[in-house]
Amino acid sequence: MSPLSLNIVPLNLEQLTGRSQNHLRELFPGHWLHGDVVEPYLQLVDRASKEGISLRLASGFRAFERQLAIWNAKARGERPVVDGEGQSLVLGDMSKSEQVFAILRWSALPGASRHHWGSDMDIWDSGAVSDAYRLQLSPEEYAPSGPFYHCSRFLDEVIASGETGFFRPYSGKNTDGVAAEPWHLSFRPVASICEAELTPQVLRELIENTDICLQGAILENLDEIYSRFIVLKC
Ligand SMILES: [Zn+2]
Repeated sequence: MSPLSLNIVPLNLEQLTGRSQNHLRELFPGHWLHGDVVEPYLQLVDRASKEGISLRLASGFRAFERQLAIWNAKARGERPVVDGEGQSLVLGDMSKSEQVFAILRWSALPGASRHHWGSDMDIWDSGAVSDAYRLQLSPEEYAPSGPFYHCSRFLDEVIASGETGFFRPYSGKNTDGVAAEPWHLSFRPVASICEAELTPQVLRELIENTDICLQGAILENLDEIYSRFIVLKC
């Protein structure tokens, strides 16, 4: 069956926001994808291997609690927050709203990460680097001088063909939204259903009921957050 003609069941709210894992299948220890994404992903891996690329998952599903821990650590200054050029930012110099938007450039709002759905993944090419290589998931690694440029070009072609259902939601074209992430792939037949389900109201209720740093500033700016960082413009 073509991956584009799957009959996909919409996620419930717990699944949609990363608080349930019963829509997932474990590919290998610690790496989970939506049940309907496993087969298309394995076909993509197979196609890549024919081009000499060892496509690997850096990260598939990510739980709400994990995204919340990342968010809170950044808001508390325990993890670095960087601008679009990779320069470190000092959150203490900013208003609460500015802090929210600075974190959103590279980190999804908990509950709104596409990684909650299991339809999205960060990938790399393990054959292009040594076993000791420490993966960064940085733009430089996927640029012409980087080790994963061949992999990135392969993905460009696969996406352009429209045959697999995969695309890159963070192309960088939305310059005041999420930064370009050439390593982030999304399986459209599943993700497009999730996108439609994840409304501002769903997020508002979730954030109101979550112990999260910058909660007031998130709620104040939720409509702008939604239109800039959650709705795709590509
Ligand atoms: Zn990602």
